[in-house]
Amino acid sequence: MKRFYKKLGLAFILLLGLVFGPGVAAAQEAVQVVDQSVDADFRDHITFTLNAKSTTEIVEVDLLYQVVGQLASSRNEAEFTPGTSINAEFMIDQTKPENYMPPGTELNYWWKIVDSAGYELRTEKQRYLYLDNRYEWQTLENERLTLFWYEGDDSFGQTLFDRANVALDTLASDVGISLKDPIKIFIYASHQDLLRALSSNAQEWTGGQAMTTFGVVVIGVPPSQLDWGLRATTHEMSHLVIHQATDNPFRGLPRWLDEGIAVYNEDTENLIDDFAPIFDDAVQRNELMTLRTLSSPFPADPMLANLAYGQSGAVVKFIIDTYGPEKMAKLLSIFAEGSLDDDALQDALGVDTVGLDNAFRASLGLPPLPGTDADAPAEAATEEAEPASAEMANPVENTAPTSQPEANQDSTLAQLPPEPAPVQPASPFGLPCLAGLLPLMALGLVIARRKA
Ligand SMILES: [Zn+2]
Repeated sequence: MKRFYKKLGLAFILLLGLVFGPGVAAAQEAVQVVDQSVDADFRDHITFTLNAKSTTEIVEVDLLYQVVGQLASSRNEAEFTPGTSINAEFMIDQTKPENYMPPGTELNYWWKIVDSAGYELRTEKQRYLYLDNRYEWQTLENERLTLFWYEGDDSFGQTLFDRANVALDTLASDVGISLKDPIKIFIYASHQDLLRALSSNAQEWTGGQAMTTFGVVVIGVPPSQLDWGLRATTHEMSHLVIHQATDNPFRGLPRWLDEGIAVYNEDTENLIDDFAPIFDDAVQRNELMTLRTLSSPFPADPMLANLAYGQSGAVVKFIIDTYGPEKMAKLLSIFAEGSLDDDALQDALGVDTVGLDNAFRASLGLPPLPGTDADAPAEAATEEAEPASAEMANPVENTAPTSQPEANQDSTLAQLPPEPAPVQPASPFGLPCLAGLLPLMALGLVIARRKA
């Protein structure tokens, strides 16, 4: 109703304008923006300011913004003193973890200004790029990605940039997913710098994160640890692209597929050294994990965690080599619709989870899973192999990925040793450089470091 009267009022003013000729312009532009700007300090504040005037008192000012790539927008009452000329301000407090935005966040913002005559002005959308202004960034960019770094020479940046582009090519050629929106990769020069750039909720062991809803990867790569950085960047970036391509309101990918693609992308020929010995050993002892188990969050035990990553990478390579990249692409496109694991696998590859597991095992010279028969119909095998609820065992990742920031982030374990950590030799597999080593192990390391 109110809106109707506003419209009526506006129509009346316009009509008056028509009658009185030269008054038109003045009436139409009753509310005018004199100036607007954004001021930000990374991890502290993003402040929007507006200076506007009107022929009658301005009584309402809202700042609306939206993270580019996300649907939701946020409407916020600005602070100002009503009058015919106003200075309004709205601040997003970046010291609060719940407001955290990573470097590289792009915001669309606009103002809604209402005066006492009921005239309403919505300003045109402006774009703001929120950067970490504590460093002088160098950049390399193309239409797909921008790499930011501030320490290390040109070739350091170029090497990371080139590797990231190869990783994107591999995702397109081998698993059939291409980038939807351009991504940004931020290379921090140390673990300390990285932690200061992340939300205060971040774990101390975090070495990098893919923030899928922002299209941003943030990683700590000292120039002296370029090799690790190349792998970790590839790994995290793969998660980001996978999530862009498959996010849906219903279900996430089975863990082995998501992690497996990220591991595969680090080296498409061979399992990387962090995982290969443990995987080979498990094959030799016939102690692989079941794919069903690997569909849920990975184990906390460090040995099993490394096996989980290695085996996942090997299964992904097996699918690509055996069924072909087209089938892998089909599998992901089916998962993107929110399919159940077995349905998607059956549809794309003609086997369910157990069938794929047995085919993979056969390729390694291993017998079928106990209680299953590789030749028996898949349904029979499924019944025996797992309780009906096993598919449901992964509610966090599979229910509402977009509503839970945590579920949208993947973390890499830091390659810890800026100050040579005394624990390092004690680790059974050298220092876990690679993405994804699990919190328990990391916590162990952190605790050991503290004790040391
Ligand atoms: Zn990962």
